[in-house]
Amino acid sequence: MIDNEYIKEVKISSKMKKADEMQLYYYLYYLKQLGIIRKGKIHYVKEKKIEEIDLNLEIEQEIENAIEEIQQITNHSSPPPLYKLPYCKKCAYYELCFSKEEG
Ligand code: SF4
Repeated sequence: MIDNEYIKEVKISSKMKKADEMQLYYYLYYLKQLGIIRKGKIHYVKEKKIEEIDLNLEIEQEIENAIEEIQQITNHSSPPPLYKLPYCKKCAYYELCFSKEEG
């Protein structure tokens, strides 16, 4: 959701807080490149809490580092080794990561 002040994300719980924040920071970063300045709000449904976040130079550097790391990974001829993590089953990319492992 977007309004004049915020980009808002809704998450079930804060189990993946860092990933949630990085996702929203990336949206803020991307929009900033387009000249659109917003803050972020993450609504955690289970905990009934709202976290407010805002870009700063340190976070922008972290986003740029992450983008660079992603580009390095995509330049490899094969993907990195696959590790099944405790939260993989609930991840939106599960089918993509483990399509060859099951079935
Ligand atoms: S399913 Fe894939 S993308 Fe999702 S957490 Fe596991 S390894 Fe990461």
